[in-house]
Amino acid sequence: MAVITLVQGDITEQHVDAIVNAANSSLLGGGGVDGAIHRKGGKKILEECRALRASRYGKGLPTGLAVPTTAGLLPARWVIHTVGPVYAADEDRSGLLESCHRESLAVARELGARTVAFPAISTGVYGWPLDSAARIAVRAVQQAVDKAAFDEVRFVLFDERAYAAFEDALR
Ligand code: ADP
Repeated sequence: MAVITLVQGDITEQHVDAIVNAANSSLLGGGGVDGAIHRKGGKKILEECRALRASRYGKGLPTGLAVPTTAGLLPARWVIHTVGPVYAADEDRSGLLESCHRESLAVARELGARTVAFPAISTGVYGWPLDSAARIAVRAVQQAVDKAAFDEVRFVLFDERAYAAFEDALR
């Protein structure tokens, strides 16, 4: 049975089958989680991302979708790249944030990944308020997680504030 868990820490250090990257649509790296994953995972990840840009995703990965690559030197086996929506106060983009979680889990399932770690997608540079993002993420995972396909879905929160927001959302 799949259990949803929370840890405070660094997603690049998680010993899980797949970690999810809060990527940007270029797939060519950025700051935050994305920067840390490419920095520690080594050049193999970027090579596969470049190949994806040269083939299936010539215009970049659309927001709300997910695509896997190797995890390079990281302890995980795969990185699942997904593009979160930029927060907009005047437009409800929560469907896209849900979609990131749903699509990432669909990819994980296809890969046969039984343990999956998510960061708090869109809550950094993309500006989504933590409490709201946490509620959306937790609900999306609860709805999408296939209890037969996964052993654990772990949210990895970088700081105490993010951890508290996800703890509240899980209650
Ligand atoms: P986005 O562009 O989707 O907002 P960011 O990478 O800027 O993505 O931030 C997403 C969240 O990930 C933020 O809450 C940030 O604090 C957190 N974060 C940054 N680095 C790491 C890391 N190494 N492991 C886990 N979470 C991280």
